[in-house]
Amino acid sequence: YRHGEASEVVVNTPNGAVVFGEHQPLVVVAGPCSVENEEMIVETARRVKTAGATFLRGGAYKPRTSPYAFQGHGESALDLLARAREASGLGIITEVMDAADLDKIAEIADVIQVGARNMQNFSLLKKVGAQPKPVLLKRGMAATIEDWLMAAEYILASGNANVILCERGIRTFDRQYTRNTLDLSVVPVLRKLTHLPIMIDPSHGVGWSEFVPSMAMAAIAAGTDSLMIEVHPNPAKALSDGPQSLTPDRFDNLMQELAVIGKAV
Ligand code: PEP
Ligand code: MN
Repeated sequence: YRHGEASEVVVNTPNGAVVFGEHQPLVVVAGPCSVENEEMIVETARRVKTAGATFLRGGAYKPRTSPYAFQGHGESALDLLARAREASGLGIITEVMDAADLDKIAEIADVIQVGARNMQNFSLLKKVGAQPKPVLLKRGMAATIEDWLMAAEYILASGNANVILCERGIRTFDRQYTRNTLDLSVVPVLRKLTHLPIMIDPSHGVGWSEFVPSMAMAAIAAGTDSLMIEVHPNPAKALSDGPQSLTPDRFDNLMQELAVIGKAV
């Protein structure tokens, strides 16, 4: 079980320090699944910033099930994220898949994401643990809570204390109506087991945009410290995860709804 106080992860974004932690205001991370082009990433950044998000997410390197699906624009997308950061002042969260890309990702990202599929890539965990940027560790889709906490331990043991845990849904038996099963029970359980800040990603959790707002609200009711929400200016045309992405207008509405129910946004 957890010993001592909840830890806080402080991230210096262009708009100032943002703090993830139990006793802090809710932090909202929003943005598209993939960085597609300059216009869409800058527009999305501006819209989610206006709505109240403090971080922009967007993949440059995408872990796609099919090798024939869009793999992300790679290094050039990192430049676009840097431009969106400058235009909006938002912090940037983006995923590392290959340790060979870590240095260039760390140059522009404020938080480095390790995705569900790499949660037990121990050599990658050791490498993100040996660099100073905070790490967002997503739960593997078949990972137990113990597996997940031990994966976080690899990062901590390598010298990086700034780890945020993100629940993004686990595989169960129904894929007809939901992409994954969002395990919101992790919020109170992690609170008991660990001092690390908690994030909930209802977008990958449910896989359909119409169900995202309810689960975002439920995550706040459960006591999450932060949320990750996929937002795309034109979900029908998205190169990845369109069906689960909110439009900027819908995201704006959601932020207003969230402000009413909980932890001040
Ligand atoms: C993502 O955040 O776009 C992503 C690929 O998430 P996950 O690793 O949770 O599937
Ligand atoms: Mn996605």
